[in-house]
Amino acid sequence: MILEGKNITKQYKTESGNGTLTVLDDTSISIEKGSISTVIGVSGSGKSTLLHILGGLDKPNTGTVLWKNDSIYDMNRESLASFRNNKLGFVFQFHHLLPEFTALENIMMPALIRGKTPEKAGQRANYLLEEFGIPDRAEHRPTQLSGGEQQRVAMARALMNSPDLILADEPTGNLDEDNTSVILDYLFNLREIEEVSILLITHEKEIANRSDTIYQLSKGKLEIL
Ligand code: ADP
Ligand code: ADP
Repeated sequence: MILEGKNITKQYKTESGNGTLTVLDDTSISIEKGSISTVIGVSGSGKSTLLHILGGLDKPNTGTVLWKNDSIYDMNRESLASFRNNKLGFVFQFHHLLPEFTALENIMMPALIRGKTPEKAGQRANYLLEEFGIPDRAEHRPTQLSGGEQQRVAMARALMNSPDLILADEPTGNLDEDNTSVILDYLFNLREIEEVSILLITHEKEIANRSDTIYQLSKGKLEIL
């Protein structure tokens, strides 16, 4: 297993402040190396909460997250940061591309932050643009790209540091059907080339059906379909 969430419970205080909402209820998930897993569930069922916890962006009330058998809560701040930046690639529904930078620069950014030379980063960023079928968009800024192209750039950026696992929260949530399948084709093909595992949140069953394992989140529990 590459990533495991074990007996995760997550509760939020309700708006009024005197009650609790149990979003995840002593539930577990295991991501196998090289696999594509999806989590489906209705809006508000806790999918994003689960993804944030698995990615070390949020903490559960009880339970642990294991990265290759080591608890991420035993990592010091430095290793936890390295886990998030180098082992994981995040893709969100809204791509959060930096508007003042070109597609190429946005993709290069995670590598530059990590201290790679612009030459090395540029090489890989160009390669990823090619892999996602948009080499001619390198110098475009996000506003000059279509929604589908923006999401491809976001995905290329998530892959920049060669993560072991992509965590994607409704990566196609604001795209039309055609763009959705194009993006998924690229993502699923890349798995072969890059040996990356993928955990994808979606509310679309059709997307889930293309994955190796489908988890359904309902009433705080994950069930394998
Ligand atoms: P999903 O991704 O499946 O739509 P979320 O994980 O975003 O579900 O949310 C699950 C539930 O937890 C929702 O009812 C949401 O309103 C609530 N929730 C999410 N984040 C918070 C928070 N920071 N504080 C209080 N309630 C939250
Ligand atoms: P989609 O169907 O994928 O949403 P669009 O109709 O938004 O596509 O865009 C079609 C093409 O036009 C895309 O290749 C995109 O790069 C280009 N494009 C869209 N908006 C702009 C813009 N403001 N400046 C330059 N090129 C643009």
